[in-house]
Amino acid sequence: MTSAPLVAVVGAGPAGLAAVRRLRESGGVRVVLVVPGGLSEYLPGTLPVATGDARAACYRTRVVLAGVEVVSARAEAVEPGALRIAGSWRRVEAVIAAPGLALRRVGGAMSESVVGFWDPTGAEAAAPRIGAVEGGIVDVVISSLPYRCPPAPYGLALRLARRARRLGLPLHVRLLTPEEHPLAALGRTLGDALLAGCEDAGVEVLLGAEIDPDALAEGKVPAPDSGPDAADLTIVVPPHYASPLVADLAEASSPLVSVDARFATEIAGVFVVGDAAASPYPRAADPAAWSGMVAAQAVLSELGVEGDEVAQTPTADCFVDHGEGAYGRIRIAYPDGSPPRGRPAVTIDPAAPARAADFEDAHRRWQAVRVETR
Ligand SMILES: Cc1cc2nc3c(=O)[nH]c(=O)nc-3n(C[C@H](O)[C@H](O)[C@H](O)COP(=O)(O)OP(=O)(O)OC[C@H]3O[C@@H](n4cnc5c(N)ncnc54)[C@H](O)[C@@H]3O)c2cc1C
Repeated sequence: MTSAPLVAVVGAGPAGLAAVRRLRESGGVRVVLVVPGGLSEYLPGTLPVATGDARAACYRTRVVLAGVEVVSARAEAVEPGALRIAGSWRRVEAVIAAPGLALRRVGGAMSESVVGFWDPTGAEAAAPRIGAVEGGIVDVVISSLPYRCPPAPYGLALRLARRARRLGLPLHVRLLTPEEHPLAALGRTLGDALLAGCEDAGVEVLLGAEIDPDALAEGKVPAPDSGPDAADLTIVVPPHYASPLVADLAEASSPLVSVDARFATEIAGVFVVGDAAASPYPRAADPAAWSGMVAAQAVLSELGVEGDEVAQTPTADCFVDHGEGAYGRIRIAYPDGSPPRGRPAVTIDPAAPARAADFEDAHRRWQAVRVETR
């Protein structure tokens, strides 16, 4: 009896998980999921962890999926028909790599007043320094584009400003971005709404800021480092770079990997999906999951296995933290097809405390697709 073909999926973020589930549901292939520590981290939990309102462990879970072999390791290299794990090559029919984006180290031990993070684990390390600031200026600096979840740095600034207001701290929060208008790729309205939210919370936004990511990596900040405009703490959304696993496939001067419409790369049988792939959609969970399904479908059809159709374009659903339990929500769809021809249709739900329950629901749904107890 011949066994079903083996397909490897790398990474347990939204893209990898969506690919795994689509492959498994076809019933025609065996699936191995490779992820360090066998763990998955919920990235939207970064902000509550940064302000000391939650622990990173709340947003981390072990992946347990019925019928899927989970290998607790980092995939080291990929080539046609094989994946190297812990020094050994494993033969597979296809690889769907969803390693996300890696974060450059910022500031380091040298600089007490600069912290860089963009995941819950990094946020937990920075939280004591953030909590220790009782006045003065805090800068949130977007070091470079692209970065994951375009509205989230604004959410962090809003959260910090509202928390300071509640605690009666004399804190001025500034957000510095190299963009001339926030989230320009998604049209003017969304950026205007974010700027209005910042104004309402007293966050000063410095657009078109000259930011040198290399200098930031050394702990050198873009604002004056002394005098009345100097920041007491600079929080950096670090430069994102390509995961070493797919770095050779990344475009010059970009962390993103070139892929075709099926998310196939130039290496036969190797697909790159999610944040790591050069797609025209935002670095957000639902577009990542959609790309995982598109690639899984392509693998299934190459192997002659039936699968369901995937939507032509993704949607995106991002929470904007406004602090003190209030969340706004941004939904993006592409009813006229993929960009640049199809323009994004953006719906903005204003901030409301009731949406905190939606944020918690999204986290519960995320957990449920990673831990199957049946
Ligand atoms: C602060 C913040 C807030 C956000 N809020 C939202 C939101 O409200 N809505 C939304 O839609 N999106 C949000 N996002 C964005 C969203 O989380 C990402 O776009 C999404 O997680 C990308 O999915 P992914 O699967 O491509 O990569 P990731 O989620 O980054 O997952 C990558 C996976 O690959 C693993 N991995 C990496 N290298 C290897 C390797 N060599 N071998 C094996 N495994 C490897 C990692 O451990 C991880 O499991 C937010 C992100 C941040 C940082």
